[in-house]
Amino acid sequence: MKNIKHKILVLSGKGGVGKSTIAANLAVWLSMENGNTGLLDIDIHGPSVPKLLGLEQKTLNQQDEKIIPAKYEQMLKVISIGFLLRSKDDAVIWRGPMKHNIINNFVSDVSWGELNYLVVDCPPGTGDEHISIAQLIPGIDGAVIVTTPQQLSVIDVKKCVTFCRQLNIPVLGVIENMAGFVCPNCGQKTEIFTGKSGKETAAELGAPFLGSIPLDPYLALTSDIGKPLIRSDIQSPTKKAMQFTFERLMENMEIPKIKMEAKNNMKIAIPITNGKLSSHFGHCEQFAVIDVDAGSKSIAKTEMLTPPAHEPGVLPKWLSEMGVNLVIAGGLGQRAQQLFKENNIAVIVGAPSDMPENIVTAYLGKSLQTGDNVCDH
Ligand code: ADP
Repeated sequence: MKNIKHKILVLSGKGGVGKSTIAANLAVWLSMENGNTGLLDIDIHGPSVPKLLGLEQKTLNQQDEKIIPAKYEQMLKVISIGFLLRSKDDAVIWRGPMKHNIINNFVSDVSWGELNYLVVDCPPGTGDEHISIAQLIPGIDGAVIVTTPQQLSVIDVKKCVTFCRQLNIPVLGVIENMAGFVCPNCGQKTEIFTGKSGKETAAELGAPFLGSIPLDPYLALTSDIGKPLIRSDIQSPTKKAMQFTFERLMENMEIPKIKMEAKNNMKIAIPITNGKLSSHFGHCEQFAVIDVDAGSKSIAKTEMLTPPAHEPGVLPKWLSEMGVNLVIAGGLGQRAQQLFKENNIAVIVGAPSDMPENIVTAYLGKSLQTGDNVCDH
């Protein structure tokens, strides 16, 4: 597990809300954006990951006493209890200690190799398997909670949030699935469930809201035929909503680190054109480099600097040499974000086009509103 940089749990209060669909699409998206990724399906009583990824015929092999994961395309390693069942109709009837043992095997005896991300698709609810995972996986970055806009779901989400807080697992955010149905014929949106929206539920529980994914027959179809929507070439509003939601999640994973750094003095860099934040990161005219005094949580100094000529990797190095530890941008591609991470610089994207001092003041006052990762490059 120490060779895995980030570990994300996907939870839901109850079954059938689309948790596995989202876990599988998230893992595929991460593998497309960041390379080596793992997907661990510990939904012991209803493992659906093999079907969602079209891997139903795969079985697991062993080499040097280690289990070799199945592969979805080149970059995603997959482990599921579904690979061990002789028939997909077999039911698993296991007591708690057996479940703990199989999860332990999947964590310790699998040759996961070096991974950037591991996504864990947990069973619905908060039971033995969740406690096992929390015990067996060190350094979990946090959990994503999937819900639907139903009255009952609020209670379910609350249970997940309480569970995470009790086990010191950060809640990375709430994803609302099946949020309204857009008629493919007339384009009219109909709300199916009448309960609270995911946004309201998240706000009530003090958890970040990541995004809404509509009820879409095409998403159900892609899942049924084992071709995840996020991998398809079709640009649908549902696929866009998924991408947006996953990008938000990535941003939120930076937040705990940023909060830690805020205890010390900080240097924040913002790309500027015409005196305001520029959404064209690589070709901005200047960078505002702002020193923040941690004690008074206020701006100590602002410098306007001209960046070196644009080439991949130049800006992260230039900013890191100046001691910058946070970049606030309008939009930034995943590759560039990765380069900043490698230079120990945290990144916030989706910031508005405003004067740099206003942006930093809003950030320090925890009121910085971020929207889409608008990368027009
Ligand atoms: P869970 O893991 O929460 O039990 P699944 O991911 O297995 O839920 O999804 C349950 C069913 O709902 C599956 O048939 C899946 O294809 C379908 N589904 C999930 N999300 C959506 C959506 N947004 N639109 C349409 N169907 C969906």
